[in-house]
Amino acid sequence: MPKRGSPEEELRALLPASIAVRFDEMFPSVRKGKLSRRDRKRAKILGRAEPVLKRALGPLEVVRFATNGVRQVMWWLLTAGSMNPFANRTTLVLTDERVLLIHTDWCQRPCMFASQLPLDRIRATAGRNSYVFIRSGREQLMFHGVGRSEARYLRNLLESVDTGDGGWQNLCPRCFTAIDGAPPSCPACGEEFKSPKKAALRSLIFPGLGDFYLGYRKYALLEMVGAAILWGVFVSTLGPAVRLEGAEGILLALPLLGLLLVVHAGDALLTRNKARMGLHSKDGALPTGER
Ligand SMILES: [Zn+2]
Repeated sequence: MPKRGSPEEELRALLPASIAVRFDEMFPSVRKGKLSRRDRKRAKILGRAEPVLKRALGPLEVVRFATNGVRQVMWWLLTAGSMNPFANRTTLVLTDERVLLIHTDWCQRPCMFASQLPLDRIRATAGRNSYVFIRSGREQLMFHGVGRSEARYLRNLLESVDTGDGGWQNLCPRCFTAIDGAPPSCPACGEEFKSPKKAALRSLIFPGLGDFYLGYRKYALLEMVGAAILWGVFVSTLGPAVRLEGAEGILLALPLLGLLLVVHAGDALLTRNKARMGLHSKDGALPTGER
């Protein structure tokens, strides 16, 4: 038993009782009899992820580390880079079996999907400053937005497990079966998933529609307002230009039309990518058990 009033006791009070934690690894500064702000923050992050963890973890699985940062994806960097910290908040949980990624909102509450990388599929880890790179299969996960020292610590923990082949797996949001790729339904429980292709097509027709289909309603609304404004500018340029210049007026509005096409196509690619980051249940089942 930890001593009364000790840092360890204070942390244990913050931690969810249903989850086993390897205390020394999760809270390295406690060994020195101290309790840092980051330790307290990490305990809270784990607490918020509890609804997902208590369903996803095996009965003997032990948590070694947890933090909340941003999952960086190449397509997002190139197109909607500035939106990334808002859209791709992620709680990373390292256990003795896998790296678990849980999509969260800004307040670290679990949101839409979860995925995992079994430890024996990690091929290499790297990174510097506040970045952690985990290479597996053909993909590389970029995780950042955590403190430098925390990132360094996490890289060290991961390095000790570098081994093999294979890539990230999606977790069924209903039964947490690990699934390679993005099939139309879960092979274990039959839960049906939304189609990345359909999501992309909707965004191509009008930006935001695909995000709406996936369930990112607020984000979808923002995009739709933005696209509607652009279309408004286009139409209000085209009308007077044609009236003044005749058919040549169309040429004046062409650059705007080009911009609109780029926005539509860009959002389609982005939405497809977002859909492929995790399995989105058709009837809205979430990894938290809610819908
Ligand atoms: Zn399932």
